[in-house]
Amino acid sequence: MIRFDKASVTYKGGVSAMKDLDLEIGDGEFVVIVGLSGAGKSTLIRAINGLVPLTSGGLNVNGHDVPNLSAKERRELRSEVGMIFQGFNLVDRTSVLNNVLMGRLHQVPLWRTLIGKYPEKDIQIAAKALNRVEILDRAYVRATNLSGGQRQRVGIARALAQEPKIVLADEPVASLDPPTSHVVMKYLQQISRDLGITTIVNLHFLDLATAYADRIIGLRNGELVFDGPGSEADEQT
Ligand code: ADP
Ligand code: ADP
Repeated sequence: MIRFDKASVTYKGGVSAMKDLDLEIGDGEFVVIVGLSGAGKSTLIRAINGLVPLTSGGLNVNGHDVPNLSAKERRELRSEVGMIFQGFNLVDRTSVLNNVLMGRLHQVPLWRTLIGKYPEKDIQIAAKALNRVEILDRAYVRATNLSGGQRQRVGIARALAQEPKIVLADEPVASLDPPTSHVVMKYLQQISRDLGITTIVNLHFLDLATAYADRIIGLRNGELVFDGPGSEADEQT
């Protein structure tokens, strides 16, 4: 469960990117956040894993009191939250499998990662994640040799390999063409449905949101302007 309680974020320089937000997101929900550039979508997502501090108000994520985390709790929270990025953030020069294994870094002793010897169990988890996004056959290909859509599927697999409770995807399809965007949205929807992972996706485009989201949250100037089922979101944002 994620709960914002009168949460606000004001950046240095005075921009209010989140204004008195009250919002609850239940376990396993598939939520899409829509709004124009600058509406506060990234701020909301980054607040959830503690990357952006609240200026005031409360935020509880899976029982973690985010504004008051100890260093240890912060690590715990980060390990429970998988991130997916617009620019994929893959390490181009290494294999797809190694990229996905990076999702296991918080589970694997550092010395093993340094010599590139992951335990068999972690390799199995990574392979299963690649299989889920149907790209296991490219496991030994360098990430740089993949198309954009394939790279984002690897990004999803890396997040899954973390065995997260929550997945946050910040504009995951912004650099993909429309058909590829649909494929990526479909996989995100599936991981939420099949694995029960709470999944929050930021999007520019309402049509993609209404096609996949169980729930759409509309933001404008840091304020919540819509919250409802995907089917009712037209014309609102
Ligand atoms: P997007 O609109 O896709 O979220 P931006 O291009 O606005 O991304 O922001 C890119 C990076 O710059 C982010 O890390 C964001 O936090 C930061 N940023 C955005 N606006 C400002 C600003 N006015 N001052 C300082 N940093 C900013
Ligand atoms: P979105 O993801 O919807 O594009 P953001 O959350 O990135 O919106 O930004 C919301 C507002 O906060 C924008 O006006 C942006 O310029 C500003 N902003 C974002 N990050 C920073 C930052 N690090 N410092 C200052 N202003 C920022």
